[in-house]
Amino acid sequence: MSTTVSALESARTELKDFGDRLIGPDDPRYDEARTLFNAMIDRRPALIARCENAADVAAAIRFARTHDLRIAVRGGGHNGAGLASVDDGVVIDLSPMKTVSVDPSTRTVRVGAGCVWGEVDAATQPHNLAVPTGIISSTGVAGLTLGGGHGYLARRHGLTVDNLLSAQLVLADGSQVTASTDEHPDLFWAIRGGGGNFGVATEFTFRAHPVETIVGGPTFWAIEQADELLAAYREWLPSAPRNVMGFFNFHTIPPVAEAFPEELHLRKVCGIVWCIDASDEEAEQAMAPMLSIAEPLLDGTGRIPLAALNGAFDGLYGPGDQWYWRGDFVREIPDEAIRLNREWNERMPGFKAGTHLYPVDGAVQDVKVEDTPWAYRDVTWSQVFIGCDPDPASADAVREWTLGYSEALRPYAAGAGYVNFMMDDEGQERVKATYGPNYPRLQQVKAQYDPENVFRVNQNIKPA
Ligand SMILES: Cc1cc2nc3c(=O)[nH]c(=O)nc-3n(C[C@H](O)[C@H](O)[C@H](O)COP(=O)(O)OP(=O)(O)OC[C@H]3O[C@@H](n4cnc5c(N)ncnc54)[C@H](O)[C@@H]3O)c2cc1C
Repeated sequence: MSTTVSALESARTELKDFGDRLIGPDDPRYDEARTLFNAMIDRRPALIARCENAADVAAAIRFARTHDLRIAVRGGGHNGAGLASVDDGVVIDLSPMKTVSVDPSTRTVRVGAGCVWGEVDAATQPHNLAVPTGIISSTGVAGLTLGGGHGYLARRHGLTVDNLLSAQLVLADGSQVTASTDEHPDLFWAIRGGGGNFGVATEFTFRAHPVETIVGGPTFWAIEQADELLAAYREWLPSAPRNVMGFFNFHTIPPVAEAFPEELHLRKVCGIVWCIDASDEEAEQAMAPMLSIAEPLLDGTGRIPLAALNGAFDGLYGPGDQWYWRGDFVREIPDEAIRLNREWNERMPGFKAGTHLYPVDGAVQDVKVEDTPWAYRDVTWSQVFIGCDPDPASADAVREWTLGYSEALRPYAAGAGYVNFMMDDEGQERVKATYGPNYPRLQQVKAQYDPENVFRVNQNIKPA
């Protein structure tokens, strides 16, 4: 009998309370249940345990440990490296844990670990509140938060982890704890960037901020104007006030008739996606220095709810594409790096690839490097190199382009990349590097909470 079959049979006896929430390879739901956002990754777990509460999570951890099976934890399943699944192991699937409760009086939001950000936005927006999230609303709350989380509100309100007030976790021994500044403060420090290394988070409590509508959306220019625009952007963005956010990007205009004029379809472009929390007049003034440089090809900006901006690109980036990622923190963008960025994007494969430069200045820098594991707070941008294409036959081209491009830019990078933009083939030194001076403390907390490295299907921190 194969390991997978025997594990499944044991699970059906030992985890009886799960009923039909245990999914194995013989289940017609198996293929759908094991599918990840990144179609380049194809893993076959022995068992998927859909957990509804912390007791389920504890039971699944105990089962996996008893049977010596690796554990993967699935929040939104968006991780580029596919770390929400594991061959022949147990997937602790938190997707049933979908509660969101907003307390407008304290401006706090409690979120179940199976939520995606769109579900949080849907609950907070009616109160004109927002938690700082990422830029695609189908991304999981859990993985994004535990890795740091940067998005449209970062310059004004910091990273997602800078707005985390507490979390409920199930530890490797099955015990349930709260991590906050008052309870298990070391654990609370470690989960604000250290990923899923320390336990399974079942619920998060966030601080929310008043945000009504914003001026947001993309402006695109011809890629031939990128040198001038990016040279201006590198000076303009850091001096812009914190309520002004704009991430520079290179892309291809998608051939989507409803969204883009046909004459622009498949044009290579550079652009800024704006999120400005100000009046129309103030927003216009804020954008003027960039808009005066060259005539845009397309202006897609307008006054919209923040939740609408957070979901604006969901349709374009749905599940099932081939993704290959790299990330690098960037302090400065010299002329040579500008030229290389343009040249690599002039030959980007397909129409879904590109790069984004997310600002990490402003409020992100109000938090000291040692206050959370997220160490690269003194940089200006977090760059992501996005290899993406719907066609499986393009997988190699996507991968090669991403690798070539990121390696060409590496001499201009700060020395590490954001942990949530890493694949699983970058090596332990790269994981260490993202945490910089915080790595030894992370190893100590790991040794305290997970000395046997039960939670190792992740960007792994080795116990001290
Ligand atoms: C289209 C797209 C856009 C993105 N945009 C942004 C962005 O704007 N900003 C940003 O910061 N990041 C962004 N990301 C990266 C994102 O932060 C990571 O992909 C993140 O891992 C996704 O979280 P998830 O819950 O969906 O992950 P999953 O794939 O479910 O899990 C990822 C990792 O987290 C661990 N994990 C998940 N849930 C838990 C839990 N409850 N307890 C313990 N460990 C857990 C898993 O073990 C795994 O290692 C984006 C990703 C995609 C695909």
